[in-house]
Amino acid sequence: MLIAGNWKMNTDVASGTKLASDIAKAAADADLGSVALAVCPPYVSLMPVGDALKGSGVALGAQNMHQEDGGAFTGEVSAAMLVSAGCTHVVLGHSERRQYFGESNHDIQQKVARARQNGLVPILCVGETKAERDAGDAKTVVEGQVRGGLADVPFDAPGDLVIAYEPVWAIGTGDTATPEQANEMHAFIRGLVADLYDKAFASDVHILYGGSMKPHNAEDLLSQPDVDGGLIGGASLDADSFIAIARHGAAIEAKA
Ligand code: PEP
Repeated sequence: MLIAGNWKMNTDVASGTKLASDIAKAAADADLGSVALAVCPPYVSLMPVGDALKGSGVALGAQNMHQEDGGAFTGEVSAAMLVSAGCTHVVLGHSERRQYFGESNHDIQQKVARARQNGLVPILCVGETKAERDAGDAKTVVEGQVRGGLADVPFDAPGDLVIAYEPVWAIGTGDTATPEQANEMHAFIRGLVADLYDKAFASDVHILYGGSMKPHNAEDLLSQPDVDGGLIGGASLDADSFIAIARHGAAIEAKA
């Protein structure tokens, strides 16, 4: 199981570093078994957060990157730069990037491919809006995002890819998908990954749920058979809440 925190455009260098230290300490004090943790701070905090996480086993991820290797792209950051700052993961295709920055499935596929070429694990985010769900189009939209985002990208091992199912209507709203809705979509996504790669690969790829996961609802969501962890926004900004979610994951794994 993987519990990853997306800090979005929150924290500055000092508060982000403190949050990372608190998470590292809380993770060390908790018995998390094989639950893996990752945090994705803003770019400016990657290096100090990485320092604060040293030796904790908590992985470092970024929230985005540019698809080109380098050059005249003012304001952008490349995959190689993220690696040089200590990142192992990168969130790609978050719905806020799609919605506010116009990222298309094609852009995201290029980023996924470039992330892999540089050894980063992409956390590919997919998910439908409320209008799309209400219109009965949720699976069609998610299928387009999965097939579009992964098209022709090779992966050596299932650990090289993470997919996050994040229904847009559940992000930051306090509404969550029901555990059944989440599991149904996760199983659907796993089937798509099996079709694109193979069944063994798909069965081991981590598919995270994201969208208002909190300590009080984490157990129900994480105990679904096709839910392999969580991508956590708001609740990842508090070390105790973040680790409380991870503890639920560890308890579920211990029972399995
Ligand atoms: C997210 O943005 O990835 C997310 C899941 O946010 P929240 O947990 O705040 O809904």
